[in-house]
Amino acid sequence: MLPADMPVLLALLIVSVVTSAFVAIRYFASSGLFAWITQRTRPGLYADRTIQIRKEIRWSLIATLIYGAPAGMIFWSWNHLGWTRLYADWSAYPLWCLPLSVALYLFAQDTWFYWTHRAMHRPALFKRMHGVHHDSRPPTAWTAMSFHPLESLTGAVLIPVLVFIIPIHLAMLGVVLTVATIMGVTNHMGWEMFPRWLVHSPLGHWMITASHHERHHEEYRCNFGLYFRFWDHLCGTDRGFSPRMVAEKAAA
Ligand SMILES: [Zn+2]
Ligand SMILES: [Zn+2]
Repeated sequence: MLPADMPVLLALLIVSVVTSAFVAIRYFASSGLFAWITQRTRPGLYADRTIQIRKEIRWSLIATLIYGAPAGMIFWSWNHLGWTRLYADWSAYPLWCLPLSVALYLFAQDTWFYWTHRAMHRPALFKRMHGVHHDSRPPTAWTAMSFHPLESLTGAVLIPVLVFIIPIHLAMLGVVLTVATIMGVTNHMGWEMFPRWLVHSPLGHWMITASHHERHHEEYRCNFGLYFRFWDHLCGTDRGFSPRMVAEKAAA
């Protein structure tokens, strides 16, 4: 992709900038899409939030650099040095390893997020970092990446570490990133897109959707998970769904 004789530092700078640009495009495409759907289906929901949304976009753009730089460097080292356990050959491992790797990455991300998120709610860290995310009251589709840069750093390091430990096909890494993007946006957009029967089903008992994460933004001291309710259930921090969203869904 880049000339083999290019100085390493220059190559790393270029891949970091290009990857950050991709992360920014992904943010605008995903948050923009769900903000547009929100506007179409719930006109006026974000009507008085122009200043809040501007701030969310500013923090998110800084986050795109923090997420993009290590991801770009990892990709470059895989491509040029053969480091990491990323692979592109479909026959490198048995096919059942494909879904297993996705599940392991999502569980690892969820576990890392749950414990760092709980730590972020300690007063000192909340004041210095995590308060930025909770300045969105209530959150919107643009809140998904709205974090203080130091908090973004805690989120950005995990996958670059995992790719050195757990083998994953490039396409499956794409699946993990797609799930992360869509759930990050939809869990913040202020309304529940899944039907009531699913949210209140055994699957909804273990999966996090907007109704669950909204309650975290309402009450702060509960519902710390990212994708799954496993750690919240295990540690007694699960308080169920946002009463506002449950009432809205029932009325609909
Ligand atoms: Zn949130
Ligand atoms: Zn929080």
